[in-house]
Amino acid sequence: MLAKSLVINGTIMIYEIDGLLSYLKELVLSAQSVQTNAQAPYSGFKVGAAVLDIHGHVSLGVNVERCTYTQTTHAEQNAIDSLVAQHGPVAIEVIAICGINQPRKINRYNISLNDIIFPCGHCLQIIWENCSNKNTAIISDLGDNLVAMSDIGSLLPVRFGPNNLNLNVFEPRRA
Ligand SMILES: [Zn+2]
Repeated sequence: MLAKSLVINGTIMIYEIDGLLSYLKELVLSAQSVQTNAQAPYSGFKVGAAVLDIHGHVSLGVNVERCTYTQTTHAEQNAIDSLVAQHGPVAIEVIAICGINQPRKINRYNISLNDIIFPCGHCLQIIWENCSNKNTAIISDLGDNLVAMSDIGSLLPVRFGPNNLNLNVFEPRRA
Protein backbone atom coordinates (compact mmCIF):
# COMPACT_ATOMS: atom_id res chain seq x y z
CA MET A 1 0.00 0.00 0.00
CA LEU A 2 1.29 3.44 -0.95
CA ALA A 3 1.90 5.51 2.18
CA LYS A 4 2.73 8.78 0.50
CA SER A 5 3.90 10.19 -2.80
CA LEU A 6 6.47 12.99 -2.91
CA VAL A 7 6.79 15.30 -5.92
CA ILE A 8 10.13 16.50 -7.28
CA ASN A 9 9.93 19.77 -9.20
CA GLY A 10 12.49 21.70 -11.18
CA THR A 11 12.64 24.80 -13.33
CA ILE A 12 14.88 25.78 -16.21
CA MET A 13 14.60 29.26 -17.72
CA ILE A 14 16.02 30.32 -21.08
CA TYR A 15 17.46 33.83 -21.42
CA GLU A 16 19.19 35.87 -24.07
CA ILE A 17 22.73 36.48 -22.79
CA ASP A 18 22.22 40.22 -23.19
CA GLY A 19 19.11 40.00 -21.00
CA LEU A 20 21.08 38.70 -18.01
CA LEU A 21 22.14 40.93 -15.13
CA SER A 22 25.59 42.22 -16.03
CA TYR A 23 27.48 40.17 -13.41
CA LEU A 24 25.82 36.98 -14.67
CA LYS A 25 26.58 37.85 -18.28
CA GLU A 26 30.19 38.48 -17.32
CA LEU A 27 30.36 35.06 -15.68
CA VAL A 28 29.01 33.36 -18.83
CA LEU A 29 31.52 35.25 -20.98
CA SER A 30 34.31 34.13 -18.62
CA ALA A 31 33.22 30.49 -18.95
CA GLN A 32 33.16 30.88 -22.73
CA SER A 33 36.60 32.44 -22.92
CA VAL A 34 38.33 29.95 -20.61
CA GLN A 35 36.80 26.98 -22.49
CA THR A 36 39.49 27.15 -25.19
CA ASN A 37 42.11 26.34 -22.53
CA ALA A 38 40.57 22.93 -21.83
CA GLN A 39 42.85 19.90 -22.25
CA ALA A 40 40.55 17.46 -24.03
CA PRO A 41 42.60 15.47 -26.58
CA TYR A 42 40.56 12.28 -26.07
CA SER A 43 36.95 13.44 -26.11
CA GLY A 44 37.44 16.69 -27.98
CA PHE A 45 34.72 17.97 -25.63
CA LYS A 46 35.97 21.18 -24.08
CA VAL A 47 34.20 22.71 -21.10
CA GLY A 48 34.79 26.02 -19.38
CA ALA A 49 33.37 26.99 -16.00
CA ALA A 50 33.26 30.20 -13.99
CA VAL A 51 32.07 30.35 -10.39
CA LEU A 52 31.15 33.34 -8.29
CA ASP A 53 31.21 32.94 -4.51
CA ILE A 54 29.09 34.78 -1.97
CA HIS A 55 31.92 37.26 -1.34
CA GLY A 56 32.28 38.19 -5.00
CA HIS A 57 35.36 36.14 -5.86
CA VAL A 58 35.44 34.55 -9.30
CA SER A 59 37.31 31.38 -10.16
CA LEU A 60 37.69 29.64 -13.52
CA GLY A 61 38.10 26.01 -14.50
CA VAL A 62 38.34 23.74 -17.53
CA ASN A 63 38.24 19.99 -17.99
CA VAL A 64 41.65 18.33 -18.01
CA GLU A 65 41.77 14.85 -19.56
CA ARG A 66 44.48 12.26 -18.93
CA CYS A 67 45.15 9.13 -20.94
CA THR A 68 44.03 6.97 -18.02
CA TYR A 69 40.59 8.61 -18.43
CA THR A 70 39.62 8.01 -14.81
CA GLN A 71 42.00 10.77 -13.69
CA THR A 72 40.23 13.36 -15.80
CA THR A 73 38.98 16.37 -13.88
CA HIS A 74 35.89 18.35 -14.80
CA ALA A 75 35.66 22.08 -15.38
CA GLU A 76 33.15 22.73 -12.58
CA GLN A 77 35.28 20.78 -10.12
CA ASN A 78 38.43 22.64 -11.16
CA ALA A 79 36.75 26.01 -10.82
CA ILE A 80 35.41 25.21 -7.34
CA ASP A 81 38.61 23.56 -6.14
CA SER A 82 40.66 26.54 -7.34
CA LEU A 83 38.28 28.85 -5.49
CA VAL A 84 38.85 26.87 -2.29
CA ALA A 85 42.60 26.90 -2.88
CA GLN A 86 42.56 30.69 -3.10
CA HIS A 87 39.94 31.60 -0.51
CA GLY A 88 39.34 28.56 1.68
CA PRO A 89 36.03 26.68 2.01
CA VAL A 90 33.46 29.12 0.68
CA ALA A 91 29.91 28.91 -0.63
CA ILE A 92 29.28 29.66 -4.26
CA GLU A 93 26.37 31.73 -5.50
CA VAL A 94 26.46 31.03 -9.23
CA ILE A 95 28.27 28.72 -11.60
CA ALA A 96 28.29 29.26 -15.35
CA ILE A 97 29.45 26.59 -17.74
CA CYS A 98 30.10 26.45 -21.45
CA GLY A 99 30.26 23.05 -23.15
CA ILE A 100 29.18 24.13 -26.62
CA ASN A 101 32.03 23.19 -28.93
CA GLN A 102 30.56 24.37 -32.24
CA PRO A 103 28.66 27.51 -33.17
CA ARG A 104 25.01 26.57 -33.55
CA LYS A 105 21.59 28.00 -34.26
CA ILE A 106 18.84 27.35 -31.74
CA ASN A 107 15.15 27.33 -32.60
CA ARG A 108 13.96 29.59 -29.80
CA TYR A 109 10.45 28.15 -29.93
CA ASN A 110 11.50 24.53 -29.70
CA ILE A 111 14.25 24.24 -27.10
CA SER A 112 14.42 20.84 -25.43
CA LEU A 113 16.41 19.42 -22.51
CA ASN A 114 18.64 17.73 -25.08
CA ASP A 115 19.87 21.14 -26.22
CA ILE A 116 21.24 21.96 -22.77
CA ILE A 117 24.59 20.86 -21.39
CA PHE A 118 24.28 20.98 -17.62
CA PRO A 119 26.89 19.68 -15.15
CA CYS A 120 27.21 15.90 -14.85
CA GLY A 121 26.06 14.09 -11.70
CA HIS A 122 29.57 14.07 -10.26
CA CYS A 123 29.79 17.87 -10.61
CA LEU A 124 26.26 18.46 -9.29
CA GLN A 125 27.37 16.78 -6.07
CA ILE A 126 30.50 18.95 -5.94
CA ILE A 127 28.43 22.09 -6.57
CA TRP A 128 25.96 21.12 -3.85
CA GLU A 129 28.73 20.64 -1.29
CA ASN A 130 29.98 24.17 -1.95
CA CYS A 131 26.56 25.85 -2.00
CA SER A 132 24.97 28.06 0.55
CA ASN A 133 21.48 26.91 -0.42
CA LYS A 134 19.40 25.10 -3.01
CA ASN A 135 18.82 28.32 -4.98
CA THR A 136 22.44 28.51 -6.08
CA ALA A 137 22.20 29.28 -9.79
CA ILE A 138 23.56 27.08 -12.55
CA ILE A 139 23.82 28.73 -15.94
CA SER A 140 24.61 26.82 -19.10
CA ASP A 141 25.63 28.43 -22.35
CA LEU A 142 23.36 27.23 -25.15
CA GLY A 143 25.16 28.93 -28.00
CA ASP A 144 23.37 31.38 -30.30
CA ASN A 145 23.46 34.03 -27.55
CA LEU A 146 21.18 32.02 -25.28
CA VAL A 147 21.66 30.48 -21.86
CA ALA A 148 19.65 28.07 -19.75
CA MET A 149 19.39 28.98 -16.08
CA SER A 150 18.40 26.68 -13.28
CA ASP A 151 19.43 26.01 -9.70
CA ILE A 152 20.99 23.16 -7.78
CA GLY A 153 17.66 22.36 -6.10
CA SER A 154 16.10 21.68 -9.51
CA LEU A 155 18.98 19.78 -11.07
CA LEU A 156 19.84 17.74 -7.98
CA PRO A 157 16.43 17.50 -6.28
CA VAL A 158 17.40 14.70 -3.91
CA ARG A 159 20.61 15.71 -2.23
CA PHE A 160 23.08 14.07 0.11
CA GLY A 161 25.48 16.53 1.66
CA PRO A 162 27.30 17.82 4.72
CA ASN A 163 23.94 18.43 6.46
CA ASN A 164 23.37 14.71 6.54
CA LEU A 165 26.55 14.42 8.58
CA ASN A 166 25.62 17.41 10.75
CA LEU A 167 28.54 19.33 9.32
CA ASN A 168 28.94 22.87 8.11
CA VAL A 169 31.78 22.95 5.61
CA PHE A 170 32.03 26.73 5.79
CA GLU A 171 32.38 27.12 9.56
CA PRO A 172 35.92 27.78 10.70
CA ARG A 173 37.35 24.68 12.31
CA ARG A 174 38.39 24.70 15.92
CA ALA A 175 42.09 24.34 16.53
ZN1 LIG B 1 31.28 16.93 -14.45
